Amino acid sequence: MPPADDPVHVHGVQEEYFYLMVHPCVCGGAWQSDSQEVEEDAARVLHRVAATCFTCGARRTFPFQLDTHGGPKGPIRQVNPTAAPSRALDVVEWMGLAKFYLGRIEQLTESVRRAQSLLDARQCLEEALKFYGPQDDAPPASALWSDESRRRAADQADTFRRSTIETMLDRLPPLDRLRRADSLDQKAFERGVKERAKARVGRKWWQFWKLLRRT
Ligand SMILES: [Zn+2]
Repeated sequence: MPPADDPVHVHGVQEEYFYLMVHPCVCGGAWQSDSQEVEEDAARVLHRVAATCFTCGARRTFPFQLDTHGGPKGPIRQVNPTAAPSRALDVVEWMGLAKFYLGRIEQLTESVRRAQSLLDARQCLEEALKFYGPQDDAPPASALWSDESRRRAADQADTFRRSTIETMLDRLPPLDRLRRADSLDQKAFERGVKERAKARVGRKWWQFWKLLRRT
């Protein structure tokens, strides 16, 4: 994790959301985003997300940097359309998220929610895999950013083998099928964004960040 004041590089708002998830409050509580401030120049977009802890009410501001302009162009749940590994979360954190999204499937009753959870799991596994070079069967040192991550990768060597991640991906439905299943819900989401935009003229895409529905 970079020093507190350095912005965390992300590919889009989805990665910001995941970053907040894996960096909970010191009390263990989850963050709820309150507001977003945006600064944009020719080279980059700086995005400061102010958040409040659900449990203890602590407040914190998370600085992010998006290296592209104009907002996300792909599907709303798209994490990282590039082949470059994440600079926000390391391989252990992506695998932890993938397990979280896979682990909750059986509790979800609506098929669209299950598809969304599988879509998130699939993308988190793909992000984990982006850290592996062609010769790597275990995660390279550059994919493990903390003592905690190095310890977990060593303790659970089987989980972090490239072949394990590839097998997990093979068992999941393909990305396009999951995206189709998500599209109905996405239409409702887009309608919500349009209505919100009418109500608050001049808002930009990143201010709809909090609308990202997560159940
Ligand atoms: Zn807290």
